Amino acid sequence: MSTAFVYAPALAHTRRNHPENHQRLAQLLPTLEQFGVLPALTAVNPQTATLEQLARVHTAEYIDKVREVAHRGGGVLDHGDTYVTPESYQLARLAAGGTIAAVDAMMAGAVQNGIVLVRPPGHHAEADRAGGFCLFNNVAIAARHAQTVYGLKRVLVIDFDVHHGNGTQHIFYEDNTVFFASVHMFAPYYFYPGIGSSHEMGEGNGHGYTLNVPLPPHVGDTGYTQIFQELVWPKATAFRPELIVVSAGFDAHWQDPLAAEGLSLTGYARVTQLLMQMAQDLCNGRILFVLEGGYQQTALTYGILNTIYALLGRDEIHDPLGPMPTPEHDVTDILRQLRQRHLIY
Ligand SMILES: [Zn+2]
Repeated sequence: MSTAFVYAPALAHTRRNHPENHQRLAQLLPTLEQFGVLPALTAVNPQTATLEQLARVHTAEYIDKVREVAHRGGGVLDHGDTYVTPESYQLARLAAGGTIAAVDAMMAGAVQNGIVLVRPPGHHAEADRAGGFCLFNNVAIAARHAQTVYGLKRVLVIDFDVHHGNGTQHIFYEDNTVFFASVHMFAPYYFYPGIGSSHEMGEGNGHGYTLNVPLPPHVGDTGYTQIFQELVWPKATAFRPELIVVSAGFDAHWQDPLAAEGLSLTGYARVTQLLMQMAQDLCNGRILFVLEGGYQQTALTYGILNTIYALLGRDEIHDPLGPMPTPEHDVTDILRQLRQRHLIY
């Protein structure tokens, strides 16, 4: 089994006192070296996404706007949440192109699966707007690349970042060739982005191809595992994906400063192992994990390390932070309602 490793930390896309800054990945390489996993990975060089690749997802006007703001010396988009530095346009293209490079390596048979560690993240970026620290939607661009260049008919996008993947949902909302499943904390008016309720299920041809799992705070390892086993897995099986792309955010960890879910590093690793089994069962193990959020540095670093172990097929988990110290919120009722809504019997 071979695993692609794409690394583009975008050091010049950063802002002081902003949670999504270049320091997020500062401990990553030393930690991966310490645990000796790098030699087992297949390094894949990120490449700058072409305008054609970006335009499969984003409007030409929006791509121009990001370029112009960067060329003017930087600024902010999305009412100030999402910053642009002079280098951000190029680096966001590199992040998208890095995700594409992993798809290419997989489709060429050079690797079976992969992890894509790029910035800025992507899942809040819609076709025509930035959002939530995201400029270009890396995962959506990779899914479209797989469809356009390799003719894949069904791509499954799973988003376990603690925030709803509103950009990805928006892009594929009327599309039945990309199934979008998002498991996220949901609290309209005070938790970003405020959409992702269970009755958002897609429209037109896409009706039934969006699965939202909105959660109250403090759902933990047991609840997340149940959700993936009893809800996401049967929906994925029915969809029969040829490729699974994961929007991997590590901000559902109980110590994350921006959110209030209760996953531990062990729980994250168990979910990742489940997704690996799902990929083995459904699409010859073709699965890519693409970094989104995660703002507690130890949780992010070890979350990535554990994901790499899972991708390599090694049942090894490192959890220096331990479990959430308070009881977790039970998801039995939520799960029952969602299974009814999505016709799982
Ligand atoms: Zn997030």
